[in-house]
Amino acid sequence: QTAAEARGVSKIYGSGDSATTALNNVDLQIGAGSLTAIMGPSGSGKSTLMHVFAGLDNATHGTVSIGDTDITHLDDNALTVLRRRKLGFVFQAFNLVPTLSVLGNVTLPFELDGRKPTAAELSWVRELLGRLGLGMLEARRPHELSGGQQQRVAIARALAMRPQLIFADEPTGNLDSRSSREVLTLLRDLTREYQQTVVLVTHDPVAASHADRVIFIADGAIARDVVGRSDAKTL
Ligand code: ADP
Ligand code: ADP
Repeated sequence: QTAAEARGVSKIYGSGDSATTALNNVDLQIGAGSLTAIMGPSGSGKSTLMHVFAGLDNATHGTVSIGDTDITHLDDNALTVLRRRKLGFVFQAFNLVPTLSVLGNVTLPFELDGRKPTAAELSWVRELLGRLGLGMLEARRPHELSGGQQQRVAIARALAMRPQLIFADEPTGNLDSRSSREVLTLLRDLTREYQQTVVLVTHDPVAASHADRVIFIADGAIARDVVGRSDAKTL
């Protein structure tokens, strides 16, 4: 089963002499229930690839599917609904709402969907907070937390609605090694326990060593595709 697929995807920014080819004819299938790490030098096209998969950016050529849905020709409204219902995003800029508590921030996706979380959903949110080491902090406001705690709140928020497909851009970038391990273990366990799919952009070989598959991007193309749990030292 395929969670996401790119076929012949190119992305060209600008035109004429100033055109930049960020992605060059990429074919990629992401299997459902897998944890895939994307690595590669700065400017190689990792963020563009995630944005095209998430429908945040249009491919110049090629098609992109999420599950059974070809998103290439969806309008903005349909894309917004698909993102809200099926996708989770963890970015470096975590955008927590300063006036809301930790619990308020993590349940925000339900409010944005126009409803309150059910009892089962609320208990899942609390389990997530516990698994991320935030169990005692649900009443705090973001400014009362460390940077790493704030980042984990953003991760909990991204996972609150149990998205089928989670995109994480350097999710452990600001975390100490213990918090990093909690986050990576959680992401991996979600793929095992709930068949959720995680695509992780990272520079960190230790983070990539938690992945089922590591894809190396260079100059907008897949340079290496390593399937199987890898040894951090060989990356
Ligand atoms: P990475 O995430 O691997 O650092 P990016 O996907 O951000 O790489 O960038 C790939 C290439 O596309 C780079 O050459 C970058 O300068 C270019 N690029 C990215 N976004 C834009 C944009 N909005 N306009 C023009 N060029 C861009
Ligand atoms: P970078 O990797 O270049 O430091 P970020 O990872 O913070 O940048 O963000 C990459 C892009 O994703 C930005 O263009 C930003 O507008 C967008 N973005 C950030 N947060 C979200 C979000 N929660 N939902 C959708 N798009 C987002």
